[in-house]
Formats: sequence, structure tokens, C-alpha cells
Amino acid sequence: MDYRSMFEDAVDTLRQEKRYRVFADLERIAGSFPRARYRDDSDNARDITIWCSNDYLGMGQHEKVVASMQEAAGRLGVGAGGTRNISGTNRPLVELERSLADLHRKEGALVFTSGFVSNEAAISTIARLLPDCVIFSDQLNHASMIQGVRQSGMQRHIFRHNDMAHLREMLAATDRKRPKLICFESVYSMDGDIAPIKEICDLAEEFGALTYIDEVHAVGLYGPRGGGIAEREGLMDRIDIIEGTLAKGFGVMGGYITANKSIIDAVRSYAPEFIFTTALPPALCAAARTSIEHLKVSSLEREQHKRQAQLTKDILRDAGLPVMANQTHIVPLLVGDARQCKAASDMLLEKHNIYIQPINYPTVPKGTERLRITPTPLHSDEMVFELRHALISVWASLELPRERASEMITASKLTSGDLTLPTIGG
Ligand SMILES: *Cc1c(COP(=O)(O)O)cnc(C)c1O
Repeated sequence: MDYRSMFEDAVDTLRQEKRYRVFADLERIAGSFPRARYRDDSDNARDITIWCSNDYLGMGQHEKVVASMQEAAGRLGVGAGGTRNISGTNRPLVELERSLADLHRKEGALVFTSGFVSNEAAISTIARLLPDCVIFSDQLNHASMIQGVRQSGMQRHIFRHNDMAHLREMLAATDRKRPKLICFESVYSMDGDIAPIKEICDLAEEFGALTYIDEVHAVGLYGPRGGGIAEREGLMDRIDIIEGTLAKGFGVMGGYITANKSIIDAVRSYAPEFIFTTALPPALCAAARTSIEHLKVSSLEREQHKRQAQLTKDILRDAGLPVMANQTHIVPLLVGDARQCKAASDMLLEKHNIYIQPINYPTVPKGTERLRITPTPLHSDEMVFELRHALISVWASLELPRERASEMITASKLTSGDLTLPTIGG
């Protein structure tokens, strides 16, 4: 049996489809982010600028956060020493969960080893504990939510992305007596569009459904205290379960849910993804809490983030580059072809020392391949101008589409209905 070639064949399939992924070898420089040291295949190092990090606010190198992790590691050691079931809970984890419950104004919080695990564990466990539950899930939900929905084994309906008429239709067609769970995100990370949260809550109320929101791309970034879009819109109390990550806006690692005490206690007691895995280390919990508490009282990072994201959008759009319009901090530049997208990314790195990972299928629909740019508060105006210069040059070299008509391509047009790409520039 030639096992080796079976694996190689599988990977070759991805290569043929231009979906084979290469990860850049990067060394972030604390204090200089978004600058980092890049090493090529021959281990030759040079400095580059990162434009695709989900450490949206640069909290991963914030002095207070780094100091907090160092201090806790020095005082408490590095490991958690086992599952919470076997070894109890580290004090910094207790404090972290209190901080999260307070952030979202909920009775309780439960921390998991990642955002992915929190979605998988919470959605599947909550749905399984509700007899004969039906799940309603947005078409563009993240892989971790899809995994949770599948894992639950319960009946599921997928509604068209942000389409309230479709969701209503599905809710109305379901037996009123059955428990219902609506799963959606606040900010969808690839298009950067936002869910109609209020409308979803209204429907949930009308049809007696529970609501589950993934605020992974919003916590730390939106709301007066960094509680996310639901906080900004005054809707946190209308959502039953708020899920988030500690790894993106908060810059560290881990995932969580917040909800009322009964839901938290049930997930804590029933989810195998929570019970049978070692807890996050105390130093990591301490750092995450420091980051959350800092962002509850400091809006400086959020304001500067908003400013740099808007500046980047304006400058790239004015240069005739195909920026996909949205209301958030994400700046997607449409390429529309997997091979070209990879070529653009390679050229940015090779010629301009700029790192932007190509986003290809299946992360986005075929024909909507893109460069996903994420400006942070730490990208200077000068860096934005360098980016503009580099992109113009790459767009010209590869003859990529850059008509202003691309402004017409909004996220909703790309992702609702049949998912085909409108022709650029007629
Ligand atoms: C990244 C991501 C997650 C997973 O969070 P991690 O903490 O990175 O595991 C969950 N949901 C969405 C929408 C994400 O983009």
C-alpha cells in the first residue's frame, strides 16, 4: 500500500485548483508591529509590513498585555496543569470569565481554548440539550459554527446571507412548539458586512427562538467598551448567547461564550470540547484580561483603528483600485481569480516587502478571490501611501481589473443569491 502517494495526491489536487496554501515565515517585532521579519525559502531574512493580521488593534504587543503575561508566568508558572474537571480552575481564569461576563453584561461566561472550539462546543451542546431543536444558520457562517451545527445532529435550515424575509419564511414554516436556535455573526470577516441584528432579534422574539451571535471580528473593536456591534447598537440584552475570541481584537488566544447562568452551567457540564481538554494557562488568561480591561476604558485604539481603516479605503478607492464597499474595518480588494490573487500576493512580498495573504476558495466563493487588507491603529499614514504605491504597481504589472465600476460591487451583491460575480467595468 503506497500511503505516501495517497497524501501527496490529495495535496496535488489542491495545487491544481490553485488552492494550495503557503504560510509566510514571520517574526513579529514587539514594539514595531506591523513590521516583522520575513524569511524566504532559503532562510534569508528581511523586514516587511504586515497588512493582513487579525490582531486588529495591535494588542498582541501592547506593553501592558505583554507585561501581564510575563508577570503571571513568573508568579504562577506556564501550564494550567490539566482540565478544569481534574485540576480545578486557575485564579486568572476565574477573573477572566468575570471580566467577559461584565463586558457583555451577562450573568456568566465560559472560556474555551479557542474561538473555533467555543462555537463548535456551544452550538452543538445548546442545540442537543433542547429537545427536537431546529437550528437556523446564516449561509455565510464561519466553519466553526457550521461544525457546531453539524455536530449537534439536530435539524438545520440555512437562510440566505442576512436575508430576513428568508429567515422569517423558515421560522414561520416550523412548528411553534419546537425549540429554535438562530446562529449568525455580527461582522462577516471576508466581506466586512454587518448582520441586521435588531431584525434578527425581533424575529427571534416573534417566533420564540434563542439567538446566538459570533462577535469574533467585533469584540474589542466596536462599542463604547469594546463589547462588539451588539453593544454599539444597544442590543446585547436581546441576544441569548454572545460568542467571541481572545485572539483577534484582544490580541492573545482563547475563545468564550457569555450568557445567563443556566446556559453557561449547562455547556460547562455537557460539552466534551470543554470538559476533556486542558484549560488555558494562567499567564494567557491574565494577558487576555488585561487587554479586555484596557479596551473597556480606552477608546484611543478604536478611534485610530477606524481612522486608518477609512483612510486606507479612501486612498485605495481614489487610486481606482477595486475596494469592495462595506461599513467596517475590513478592506477587501477584489481580484476575482485564484491564480492572479496568489500572483499579486507574491509580487507584493517579493518586490514591495508587503505581506497580504491571498484569500481564495473555499474561504470565499470562486470568482471573488481577493486581497483582504486589515489596517490597524499602528499602520502609519506613510505605510498607507506605500501600500497604495505598491498596489498600483502590482495591478499594472498583472493587468488586474481596476475600473471604478468596481465600487458598485457591494458585499451583499456578491454573496446573496447565486454567488456569481458581476462583470467588472461592463
Ligand atoms: C477566527 C474565527 C473564529 C475562531 O476563533 P479562533 O479564536 O481563531 O479559534 C470564529 N468565528 C469567526 C467568524 C472567525 O473568523
